[in-house]
Amino acid sequence: MQRSLELVRRAPWLLAPWERFIGMHAQGRVPHGLMIVGERGLGSSALARCISAYLLCSQPIRQPGSEAPCEVCPACRLRQAGTHPDLILAAEDLSVRDIPVDVVRALIDAFGLTRYGPVRIALIEQAERMNRAAANSLLKLLEEPPAGSLFLFTAERADLLPMTIRSRVQRLSVPNPDRSALVDWLCTTHALPRADADLLWFMGGRDLVAGQAPDWDWQGVTQSFCDLICGHSSPLAVAKVWQSVDRETLARWLLRVWLAVQGVSLGLPCTAPESLCPAIGRMAAALSAEDWLKRHPILLAFLQTASHPLNEELARERLALDLSDPALPARLA
Ligand SMILES: [Zn+2]
Repeated sequence: MQRSLELVRRAPWLLAPWERFIGMHAQGRVPHGLMIVGERGLGSSALARCISAYLLCSQPIRQPGSEAPCEVCPACRLRQAGTHPDLILAAEDLSVRDIPVDVVRALIDAFGLTRYGPVRIALIEQAERMNRAAANSLLKLLEEPPAGSLFLFTAERADLLPMTIRSRVQRLSVPNPDRSALVDWLCTTHALPRADADLLWFMGGRDLVAGQAPDWDWQGVTQSFCDLICGHSSPLAVAKVWQSVDRETLARWLLRVWLAVQGVSLGLPCTAPESLCPAIGRMAAALSAEDWLKRHPILLAFLQTASHPLNEELARERLALDLSDPALPARLA
């Protein structure tokens, strides 16, 4: 908790929504539904945990600028032990990409029990993982929330949730810090060399604020993408290199590279870290902007199915084939 609070206080882009929440709380205007919307990796999760801890604490520190849970009251102790009965963490395992209706049903049952303290909180992270049945089931509870309840969500793509859910929650946005501010912050906080921090910014993802270096071969993946686009390597050989990365990481990375190439092909300066700019320049020169645009739906579709149980090898082979020639599926049909 201390780490979450420290992160929220020190990262300027998290401090603003935290202070907004504190303002709501001071005025007694915390809504029944609160959705923290922000890019993954920027600390939405830490913010959600600070909000939960602050609300559950029975004697929070209210001194302006130092608001925090006390960490010593019985409610704080229960939370620290992970046994606070009023804090329901639904679908905690974020590697599970789909929240089924059963999870929401269990949550609804929990809301029927007697509360320990004045507020009960359901925290659902990356709420866009809820399938339609789960969202519909939750809607009933959101429409008539029991007194003293808070439904706290985090989401990166709030637009993927049904409008009926979105209209019943208040949004707390985590603004995207600009590149130089985030790189400066990463360098200072984690004592990183500027080039490493810049790579983390470009990469994004769930470990961004943790400042952890990527543990997969992003250089090899990028080089093989470049070779594929420039016709120097076969789709099957490229797919083999891509086997070493999980599909979601691969999809997100290729989309980042795609965006950087798109910019260069439109005549803008390269936004990628310096070490990637030569490969990005070669890719931009190999295809017209129009042809490059045709690769975007292929990458998006690959990201959207990243959690589906597909044959791992075939999925990457298909991706490499489609990227090498987007007209191929139509020709084969
Ligand atoms: Zn406390």
